[in-house]
Amino acid sequence: MTHAIQVRGLTKRYGDVEAVAGLDLDIKRGEVFAILGPNGAGKSTTVEILEGYRKRDAGEVSVLGVDPGRPTREWRSRVGIVAQTMEDAPELSVRETVRHFAAYYPDPKDPDEVIAQVGLTESANKRIRQLSGGQRRRVDVALGVIGRPELLFLDEPTTGFDPEARRNFWELIEGLAHDGTTIVLTTHYLEEAETLADRVAVIARGRIVAEGDPATLGGRATAKARVNWSEGSVETDTPTKTVLELTRRYDGEVPELTVTRPTLEDIYLRLIEPS
Ligand code: ADP
Repeated sequence: MTHAIQVRGLTKRYGDVEAVAGLDLDIKRGEVFAILGPNGAGKSTTVEILEGYRKRDAGEVSVLGVDPGRPTREWRSRVGIVAQTMEDAPELSVRETVRHFAAYYPDPKDPDEVIAQVGLTESANKRIRQLSGGQRRRVDVALGVIGRPELLFLDEPTTGFDPEARRNFWELIEGLAHDGTTIVLTTHYLEEAETLADRVAVIARGRIVAEGDPATLGGRATAKARVNWSEGSVETDTPTKTVLELTRRYDGEVPELTVTRPTLEDIYLRLIEPS
């Protein structure tokens, strides 16, 4: 099985609202895949259908070879979910919480190893309520991976993080990906998608409007480049030539030179414009 997830023609309506409107998706095993899109685009609905927590109206869906419309207990134990922060049992310690959840799975990881993996060894005896927001999120991830999932869903994992906590968290996710876990992530941070994802899909109005490597999405790599320097700015298909000309003109160092292509955010904002 080369695909972790295959979706064809997925459709979901809520009354008059077509939340998911014929969506196709292929996510390979071992891939880190980011789903981007504005609020209301249909991301949560799609992900919840993939997780087996929402019924679809039409389409074919396979997640680890199983239809999530008919989830089994065995299948659930192969899928990890990191949703928004859990609030129950704030009086339990980190270690107690992770051990407690480990008991739900047939072949859990070692709780202390998982605690170390998410960087909480020094806080293992602290109560959940004593943790910072970033530390709690790490507990969520620990609970998401304790069952040794083949596939991990992360829903906006770093919302509210400061830049340092976000970078630390990215390292954690990169480590999981390195171990071969397939990861599906929703995020509003384009930089996060660019750093972590092998591929991204942009969802708008219930459909995928673009999909691919974040470095080349939407023609990004071949888009015109902008050359800026202290006395001017041009948009060009041949930035190397422009820089050479400038080098001659200034007889060496071009003052304040930058050459830029559209950022992932530029491309994203163009893609989600109402058509
Ligand atoms: P996203 O996660 O991209 O913000 P959602 O999947 O939450 O998008 O929502 C897609 C559309 O479906 C939105 O118009 C939203 O209002 C609607 N929707 C989502 N969940 C429900 C629900 N339980 N009942 C009715 N409408 C819903």
